[in-house]
Amino acid sequence: MSHNIARDTVSQTWSKPVTAPESTPEQAQVVIIGAGIVGISTAWFLAKQGIKAVVCEKGHIAGEQSGRNWGWVRQQARDPREMPMIIESLKIWRGLEVEIGEDVGFAGGGCLFTARNDKDVEDFEAWLKVSREFGLDTRIISGKELDAQVHGGSQRWPAAIFTASDGRAEPHKATPAIARAAQRLGATVLTGCAVRGIETSSGRVSAVVTEHGSIRTSTVLCAAGAWSSMFCRSLGISLPQLKVRGTVARTAPADVVLNGALFDHKIGIRRRQDGGYTIAHGSVLDHGLTPSTLRYSLKFVKALMSEFSVLRLSIGSEFFEELRTPRRWPLDQPSPFEHKRVLDPEPNAKVLQEIRKNLDETFPELAGVEIVESWAGMVETTPDVVPVICEAESIPGFHIATGFSGHGFGIGPGAGKAIAGMLGGTDSGIDLSEFRLSRFFDGTPIRPYTTI
Ligand SMILES: Cc1cc2nc3c(=O)[nH]c(=O)nc-3n(C[C@H](O)[C@H](O)[C@H](O)COP(=O)(O)OP(=O)(O)OC[C@H]3O[C@@H](n4cnc5c(N)ncnc54)[C@H](O)[C@@H]3O)c2cc1C
Repeated sequence: MSHNIARDTVSQTWSKPVTAPESTPEQAQVVIIGAGIVGISTAWFLAKQGIKAVVCEKGHIAGEQSGRNWGWVRQQARDPREMPMIIESLKIWRGLEVEIGEDVGFAGGGCLFTARNDKDVEDFEAWLKVSREFGLDTRIISGKELDAQVHGGSQRWPAAIFTASDGRAEPHKATPAIARAAQRLGATVLTGCAVRGIETSSGRVSAVVTEHGSIRTSTVLCAAGAWSSMFCRSLGISLPQLKVRGTVARTAPADVVLNGALFDHKIGIRRRQDGGYTIAHGSVLDHGLTPSTLRYSLKFVKALMSEFSVLRLSIGSEFFEELRTPRRWPLDQPSPFEHKRVLDPEPNAKVLQEIRKNLDETFPELAGVEIVESWAGMVETTPDVVPVICEAESIPGFHIATGFSGHGFGIGPGAGKAIAGMLGGTDSGIDLSEFRLSRFFDGTPIRPYTTI
């Protein structure tokens, strides 16, 4: 068994060497910057419309957030603005393996958030209104019903909120599989190919400049995850975005304590396809202060206040690294995107210890189970914790899709469908107006509805 575990590591998506593409096309209908789940799903939906996109990725497919996340595909506790997109996304996930003929590890099992007290139950009840508005199957379940779903737990939770139709998938499998499906339909995915910037003609996008040459195009999508703000800033576009580090681990296959995903403030836990569990701390947000924290602090006041009790602030190398990074760079020389091919933060050792302790305390039945892999990822977020999806007002042809926060994996395929509609000029049925970048600058109140 341990032999299988070693071969099927999560880190396989980012631990291999980065190789340059054999060639770069001279032109493309659409160029997408970033091969995370958002960029790749967009390329797949564009290909289904007959539009052959070129995806440029500085490192690996799913090498950053999309390969490192917890693997929850949830509608529960979302901002109402995201609901149409996540409902569509779940429909796509359910049919994905049949449609692309590949394993993405999708399974149902639902999503549980446990309550510690009456205040938590009140918060859950408030979200039930959203659930009803969108016709979901979310319910508040009693501690007794919870005991029937969760085995071997030490806690006597008074209640939980449960959405049976929520699911989960395997992050290290899903995005690479969708990328292969997009390629079979004519998309091109170039890894080891950083985009340094864009060129314009009469104010419109005319090309992207990669480290391996320019690609003529009139339509660009920046789906660059944690790098989007820096990329946009080099074009004179202010995109408020901050990063928090998430430390994650997985166990060896073990007894079944639950068959979906559960969050209880001490631990976030999901049953994996291989019979192990992906586990993380339920209430730690690790934020290394950077110049961006200061630059965007006013916009993030509400988000930071609502996360105050779980924020662990520090100041370290990332502050000085960002300080040293130029705002603009010549496009004929290596850019900051080539200096760091893969954003691969160290897992926080103290948090890993706490995860172990919390797992053992919450699920004594898993106390002896081995932790076989650990890693970290940078979650990127916007001031109201929902994404920016729009065309940039100052540069026609340049589009942005980023800021998916700690919930972009589940919504990724739905977002890809909506973004492909925006780029291809077709109606995806999903209204993107709430996700315009200008909401942060036009006096619209910045209200984070959910947590990061
Ligand atoms: C620890 C953790 C746990 C999470 N848990 C969940 C969860 O359970 N459920 C959920 O729904 N979401 C979760 N998320 C969030 C989710 O992973 C992200 O929202 C989602 O993966 C974002 O996808 P993306 O494609 O926008 O960005 P990414 O996956 O970060 O992809 C962006 C890509 O752009 C590339 N890039 C950047 N700049 C350039 C450039 N100039 N040229 C070329 N390439 C470039 C990067 O290398 C990167 O590969 C979690 C995230 C983390 C880190």
